[in-house]
Amino acid sequence: MQANILLIYTGGTIGMVKDFKSGVLKAFNFKNLLQQIPEIQLLDCNIETFSFENPIDSSNMNPKHWVQIAEVIEEKYNDFDGFVVLHGSDTMSYTASALSFMLENLAKPVIFTGSQLPIGDLRTDAKENLITSIQVASLQKNKTPVIKEVCLYFEYKLYRANRTTKINAEHFQAFASLNYPDLAESGVHLKINHKYLFQPNTNKKFQVHKNLDQNIALIKLYPGISKIVLKNIFNTPDLKAVILETYGSGNCTTETWFINMLKETIKKGIHIVNITQCSGGSVMMGHYETSDMLKKEGIISGKDITTEAALAKLMYLLGKNIPPKSFKTTYETSLIGELT
Ligand code: ASP
Repeated sequence: MQANILLIYTGGTIGMVKDFKSGVLKAFNFKNLLQQIPEIQLLDCNIETFSFENPIDSSNMNPKHWVQIAEVIEEKYNDFDGFVVLHGSDTMSYTASALSFMLENLAKPVIFTGSQLPIGDLRTDAKENLITSIQVASLQKNKTPVIKEVCLYFEYKLYRANRTTKINAEHFQAFASLNYPDLAESGVHLKINHKYLFQPNTNKKFQVHKNLDQNIALIKLYPGISKIVLKNIFNTPDLKAVILETYGSGNCTTETWFINMLKETIKKGIHIVNITQCSGGSVMMGHYETSDMLKKEGIISGKDITTEAALAKLMYLLGKNIPPKSFKTTYETSLIGELT
């Protein structure tokens, strides 16, 4: 039986054309996109399409758009075996990470992909990315999908979406998953690394969470960060949580004013999550003196989570109104394979 695949087009370079007057790349009509790839008709699956009314550059994506994508999947969940989301690469890891939390008990593949060059470009990477993504989404064993999670496919590799980061603005290999193995590699054969795939509890009902709380802030520490800058951020009205991007394995300055500011913030009931600025590796609070006090103050460890997933998880959990007492434990627990 052929798999039914829904192709959701949100925008991004994959479907852009050069405005011949200004020379800038702009999103264009989805129908034209499909005409550019007649090969799609040869795939052994039924493909239907859905397009954003106004396709966008992914730099314009925000949580409202995440909800829009989630709603399309929710509405069509029972009619399709798999979903492929075409999305700009710039914020693809953010959107895909968010969807991994929002689509609870997902038991079908949702594959995000895009490209570095528009589909009409002679040297485009779009065709391979799109065609293999559809093939991955169509994979079935005993009439059930092989992939049951949100993934990102780019340049011959399939990744767990919430483990990815965009690492290059130029190379075709634009993404990396430094803290989790690739889920599949495409060469002459499509090699699936079965043991790394997420296995959801398929007895649980699929449900979509649309309440995302944006009252958060992301602070990247740097040598010389000033008290006034931090004070202003921590005093943001309605702020509920802050992600601190610290150095190395979760270290930061031990200056008294800084530690006091963190203490005051926690006292106000604002959650602070410690994640590392490094693309690979994990936060290990207490390993150095420069992180020991963070541990003592009850700061949440993001462990080896990416910035993108840390942000999405925070909006998602705050939106679920997790009681303050259990917030730290819940955040530090892997919900959908986003941390080790
Ligand atoms: N600016 C584009 C976007 O993210 C880049 C891309 O698609 O690769 O929409």
